[in-house]
Amino acid sequence: MTVDKSLVNGDSEPYWAAAALGRLVFQKCGQCSTVQFPPRHHCATCWGSDLDWIESSGRGTVESCTVVRRAPSYAFADKVPYAVASVIVDEGPRMIASVVGEGALDVRIGDAVSVVFDADTGLPQFRCNQSGPSGG
Ligand SMILES: [Zn+2]
Repeated sequence: MTVDKSLVNGDSEPYWAAAALGRLVFQKCGQCSTVQFPPRHHCATCWGSDLDWIESSGRGTVESCTVVRRAPSYAFADKVPYAVASVIVDEGPRMIASVVGEGALDVRIGDAVSVVFDADTGLPQFRCNQSGPSGG
């Protein structure tokens, strides 16, 4: 995969390097233990600068979601319909990303999802986890 270099800066380089390997990482503050996303130079909670990188499980829960059926611009014309969700990842951060794969357009609040990385752009996306026989 090729990560768009315009997305990378000094604070986010470790994030993108991990994403290129299919790994999701977050910054964790050594002072207040907040886990944050997106990457920043300082902790957004306490302004501490003692940030370390931790590996995420890549699992999360859908907090909110929508299905886009009318393209917002020509760039998205061939992508509709597509689903977008706000996901609370198990380590704490919130990520807003596309939902892809089987059942994506049926995504619901509370669904369990797992991160995947777009093969072309390296951007994080989420897939719905296989659910039980709820018939939802
Ligand atoms: Zn902090």
